[in-house]
Amino acid sequence: MDCIFCKITTKDIPSAIVLEDDKFIAIKDINPQAPVHILIIPKKHFSTLLECKDKGLLGDMLSMANQVAEKLDVNKKGFRITINTNREGGQTVFHLHMHLLAGRPLSGVMG
Ligand code: AMP
Ligand code: ZN
Repeated sequence: MDCIFCKITTKDIPSAIVLEDDKFIAIKDINPQAPVHILIIPKKHFSTLLECKDKGLLGDMLSMANQVAEKLDVNKKGFRITINTNREGGQTVFHLHMHLLAGRPLSGVMG
């Protein structure tokens, strides 16, 4: 399958990894919208949030966001997580991922 995030999880495409475990890879977004902009990407391919019926994995993805926030020391000041879903949700890469934004005050739809 020709999926850029699958290739990132297998490291066929290089990325700036901030944290990784058996289920997820957390990388720096190539086009950051805030001083801290991390993508948390499941290693298993789901095209959108709607396609993922694995409640455990969805919970683990939030847990991974907490770990990333703590590792990057944005947990106390605060951060935002977003899952853009389908076209009007702003999704451009059709492999499930969560954005973690931090490092500046966030307001508005995406800050
Ligand atoms: P979304 O619009 O929610 O689908 O988010 C896709 C995100 O992936 C965007 O914020 C892009 O900047 C980011 N992105 C696309 N290609 C790469 C890449 N090779 N490495 C890191 N981030 C990427
Ligand atoms: Zn994929």
